[in-house]
Amino acid sequence: MSRVLIAIILITCLISAVIWYEKSGSEDEPLASAQLSENLKKYSKSSFNPEIRVHLTRRRSISLKIQSAYEIRSIKSQKLLSSGKKLSQTAIKHSRNKLWIGETKYESKGIEISVSKSPAIWVNDHCYHGKIRLYSKSNGRVEIVNVVPMRNYIASVTDSEMPGNFPFEARAAQAIIARTYALYQMEQASKNSSFDLYSSTRSQKYLGYQYRDKRGRLLAGESPSSRKISEQTAGMVCTHRGDLFCTYYSAVCGGKSDEGKTVFKDAAPPLKSVVCEWCRDARYFQWNASMDRVTFNRALLKFLRKKGMKLRVIQSIKSGASLDYFTVSDGKKSIKIKTRELKPYLLSAHLLSPKYFVQAGSQKVHFKGFGHGHCVGFCQWGSRGLAKAGKCTEAILQFYYPGSQLVNLTGNTEIASRK
Ligand SMILES: [Zn+2]
Repeated sequence: MSRVLIAIILITCLISAVIWYEKSGSEDEPLASAQLSENLKKYSKSSFNPEIRVHLTRRRSISLKIQSAYEIRSIKSQKLLSSGKKLSQTAIKHSRNKLWIGETKYESKGIEISVSKSPAIWVNDHCYHGKIRLYSKSNGRVEIVNVVPMRNYIASVTDSEMPGNFPFEARAAQAIIARTYALYQMEQASKNSSFDLYSSTRSQKYLGYQYRDKRGRLLAGESPSSRKISEQTAGMVCTHRGDLFCTYYSAVCGGKSDEGKTVFKDAAPPLKSVVCEWCRDARYFQWNASMDRVTFNRALLKFLRKKGMKLRVIQSIKSGASLDYFTVSDGKKSIKIKTRELKPYLLSAHLLSPKYFVQAGSQKVHFKGFGHGHCVGFCQWGSRGLAKAGKCTEAILQFYYPGSQLVNLTGNTEIASRK
């Protein structure tokens, strides 16, 4: 190959790289509207109200009640297996490798219950919109999945995750990040999975339409206000350069959210560490806890063993200026321990967040902690503070997810007013 030809190829590559860089920009820059619309084409307009599959429970015995006419079909073949006008409280079981609803045996591995009028299906103490799927699982358990339209799901998550007396702007932001989180999980769910996310804080809290608490009181899982917010924000999601991202959030960040990448593998660039003074009113902005020294030492040694580190004895435990780690020493050797890494080894009932100072006495270990939850992304109590200070929903989302863009998959551009 001649030198001239090589030079031409190199120059062409260089020009292409410059064009590509200019086109793609830095990861913090928002996309111009033309390119954003282009990137969003992959999300169809119907995706603002898809059916989402929520894992409710997996147990040996579950109670079921249906307050409307219903049909039971095989999930795989959609063949009608049975139907009825109503079903009084009945036990669902998995026995001899088959699903049983009361005395009726079902040969299918998975069955689906649909109703003529929703919400009508009670699973244990919760009533749900949409359909219910039952799967027979190994070791004699039944897995229950609620297949529910996104609008109903968001109405319930908004109330399940955030108090009804928080300002409209904060609750609208909560609805938008809950929808983004759910759509992202749907995108990520494997083809073989029977569900997209959990109904607990393992994903996001979803109480359903209504439920009975431990004292038997009937409580609402959604409200006229949360239903309205779900409708008013329909189709609205947070994106980063045209892609949905996992909108992690927690109750109280305790003054500063943590960098997402240090906690979650799939943390997108907008999950930055943000200084937040807006959650100071929260009960758990700062908290204190204590634990006996023997229990703490045991947890610490277990943690060190797991990490392949050894200390003969634990002589001293000291926090420095940082909330992120503390130091343990046997008198000769010192080891830095990340508070976040140790947290799962300690009693979670005591430690509300991974951000704490440790002070060890001879009998007790005392913790002074900040925040509630994992402290990454949107801070729920902080959004309340920002809304009270007059910030709009979009500004609140920008504050906690810098570099993200709020878009509407339905094509509407405005968040409806609170009225
Ligand atoms: Zn905060």
